[in-house]
This record gives sequence, C-alpha cells and structure tokens, in this order.
Amino acid sequence: MRRLAPYQSGLWLAEYGDVRCQLCRIYRSTPQSHLPQNQPSAIPPNNHSFFTKLRQHVNNRFDSGLLCSDCHNSIVWLPKSFDVDITAGTSLSIQAATYYDYPIRQAIRAFKHHEDMTKLPLLLHALRQLPRPQGCHRDNSVIVAMPTTNQRLVKRGFDPVSILAAQLSKHWQIPLWNGVERIDNTVSQQGLTRAERLGNLDNAFALVETPPAKRLLLFDDVATTGASLQALARTLYLQTLPLGASVSSSSDNPYKLQAFTLAHGSQY
Ligand SMILES: [Zn+2]
Repeated sequence: MRRLAPYQSGLWLAEYGDVRCQLCRIYRSTPQSHLPQNQPSAIPPNNHSFFTKLRQHVNNRFDSGLLCSDCHNSIVWLPKSFDVDITAGTSLSIQAATYYDYPIRQAIRAFKHHEDMTKLPLLLHALRQLPRPQGCHRDNSVIVAMPTTNQRLVKRGFDPVSILAAQLSKHWQIPLWNGVERIDNTVSQQGLTRAERLGNLDNAFALVETPPAKRLLLFDDVATTGASLQALARTLYLQTLPLGASVSSSSDNPYKLQAFTLAHGSQY
C-alpha cells in the first residue's frame, strides 16, 4: 500500500471523521451569539439526541464542503476573473476561488510558511469552489502547478503549491502535468515592483517536454499581480508555438491556456 503523506490522514479525518466546521471550530473566539445555527447550543431542547445533532452537523457541512453554511456564506467566493497579457494578441484569464482576505489569507500563510496542516481543510474547501472549466476533462486537459526550483524544494522539503494542485486534480478529475521547470534562482518576489518582478521572471521557466493535452490549466496558490502566472503562461505559449506561427495570433497556437488560484486581491 502506498504510504500516505502526513497531511493526507489529517484531510481524511477532516472529511469523514470530523463533522465540525473547519472554520468556526478553529476560531473559537467567535462570540456565542455569532455562532452558527448548527452549534449544539442553538439546537432546540427537544432535539438533543446524538444522532439528530450529528445529522444536523453533517447536513450543514456537506452543503458546501468542509465549512458550515454560515461560515461558507461569510466568504465571498469566485470574484470576477481578470486578464493579463501573454503576448500582444493573447491574454490569460485568471480565476481565483476567493479574495486574499481573512480567513483565507491567514490560512494560506500558516500553511505555506509554517507548514500548518490544520489549515489544509479550509484551503481544500476554497479549492472546491473553483468550477471545472467548461469542456475540460481528463483526456483533453492537464493542470500545470506553478513550479518551484528544486533547490527551494530541497531546502524546505515541502512544496505547498504542488500539495494544493494535487487536491485540485482530484477535485476536477484532471491529471497534473510536470513538464515545466523553474530554472532561475531568483530572489523572492516579495517587495519588488511590478517591473522588477517581470524582469526577474523572464526566462524563469523552461518547457522540458511537449504538453500531453491542448488545454493547459495553470495553478498557483496566490496571484497578486498575476506576474508569475503570466510568465509561466508566456513560456508555455511561446515554447509550444508551431514553427513559423505568428506570436501575436492566438489562432496559430493550438494550446489554450487558463489560470486558477486560491486567492487574489482584497475586497477592502
Ligand atoms: Zn462554521
């Protein structure tokens, strides 16, 4: 039997073993009056049987996944997608599951920087809000996770984006494809201006094999300006362009690119 990664057993527990909401359970400082209706204290006195409670919890939670419906409804899902240019005539649409605000922002940071696996169920709930793009299936599409440098991976022993991408792959039933390498050893993107970021990202990626499908679904955990996804898309677009094809005519490229991310921007 394949050995489960440590986070997988936690996810399994959150999914099947733990019927509590992954958000209001974690943030117990919520005032009692703000607790959602499915909390035991809100259940009418004649409804106190264990199975009634359990059924209420399960019903509330599975409507929307790993959160109770109150927590689910408190988060804005699927903000309007935005476009970045790949070349003069082509753009890349980026769809985020939600805004980069509380509680997703804190969860992503804890997961990414402190390897806090207890935040994974909430992030998985967010991932599941991303609808599978129309017409995409396992035979015509692949998910391309934002690659990390091998060095970075070795140093940390942990690649948060690939963990999330694997969950998205499971959710959409579309395979992952690792045919792009990150070849640079650039400094962190944080604190750079947009122009510096873009310059930094030029030549950051290289195609190592021909994509096995024509629809490439790019994925990153967070898109701030979209510069990393834009650079990845540009590499894929230019390096898959048929010989003699026009760079600026999207009809000359048989590959269709779209990007997805857990979070983008802020609504405040
Ligand atoms: Zn909740």
